[in-house]
Amino acid sequence: KHNPEGDSQFLEDESTKIFARKVAEHYSARTNQTLEEREASPIIHLKKLNNWIKSVLIQLYARRGDAVLDLACGKGGDLIKWDKAKVGYYVGVDIAEGSIEDCRTRYNGDADHHQRRKKFTFPARLICGDCYEARLDNVLADDAPFDVCSSQFALHYSWSTEARARRALANISALLRPGGTLIGTMPDANVIIKKLREAEGLAFGNSVYWIRFDEEFSEKKFKSSSPFGIKYKFHLEDAVDCPEWVVPFHVFKSLAEEYDLELVFAKNSHEFVHEYLKKPEYVDLMRRLGALGDGNQDKSTLSPDEWEVAYLYLAFVLKKRGQPDRT
Ligand code: SAM
Repeated sequence: KHNPEGDSQFLEDESTKIFARKVAEHYSARTNQTLEEREASPIIHLKKLNNWIKSVLIQLYARRGDAVLDLACGKGGDLIKWDKAKVGYYVGVDIAEGSIEDCRTRYNGDADHHQRRKKFTFPARLICGDCYEARLDNVLADDAPFDVCSSQFALHYSWSTEARARRALANISALLRPGGTLIGTMPDANVIIKKLREAEGLAFGNSVYWIRFDEEFSEKKFKSSSPFGIKYKFHLEDAVDCPEWVVPFHVFKSLAEEYDLELVFAKNSHEFVHEYLKKPEYVDLMRRLGALGDGNQDKSTLSPDEWEVAYLYLAFVLKKRGQPDRT
């Protein structure tokens, strides 16, 4: 009965599941912070900058009344942004049960530490599930199609295997309407690999983050290895401490095309900041959020180390092929 192929497939699936669980447990265990704790964070300005980037993406691509799918929504940190965009319906999915609970609490307005506010104007559905394993078209058959899908700081967790990366893109494609938009943020593999090449060993970082590659991904092997499952450990002070996977962007782009998702743009966060800070409305927004992304050393702005972390990420927009059914 021995089936070597079947066994290795099984082993791969098992370890993939263990890593997915590690990621879920990590995010589930992160509790909500009080406003004071949040403001004291060593990466508070980076968090504000990332909120600004996500807000700009939402303002650029969401329209009043849109149905929104937030894949890996976390604790619902973007709910207020969607509310400001006056969207009509929101579905949030995340693998971390604790985060979905926090998201539900925030949506219900019970214990929002950051802002006591009136209820959100749009109805919402919040689901706990693995977006890179489960077929979501069945689960969300009554909610689809969506006008916008958002996946913020999360799609790279699908890159542990080709099957999971494909499931992520298949889910997004199946749920978006023709002409619908995918907006997102994820690590910029070009920057990460460049830093790895410049590093002395397999690790690099600064006072607020470090990245450490597994021994098996020393540069030589890295070149010849599959573009999936290139694992590193990511530590970001007061935010992240779990396994992540490199997403070579050209592979992401061509795989997405197989699922009718065409690249509109991808920009490193630094470039994104420089480009959109030319527009007065987004400068205002940056001021209101309390972050200034120019990298100077004033206490009211990002520290150079935080600015370096911003450089590790990119923002992207893809469009589902086909004609929009409304204007
Ligand atoms: N999108 C939120 C934001 O921008 O605040 C959360 C970002 S957090 C860095 C990454 C999120 O991805 C976590 O909430 C985590 O639970 C979620 N995640 C990781 N793997 C996932 C999976 N397989 N399915 C669904 N969510 C996942």
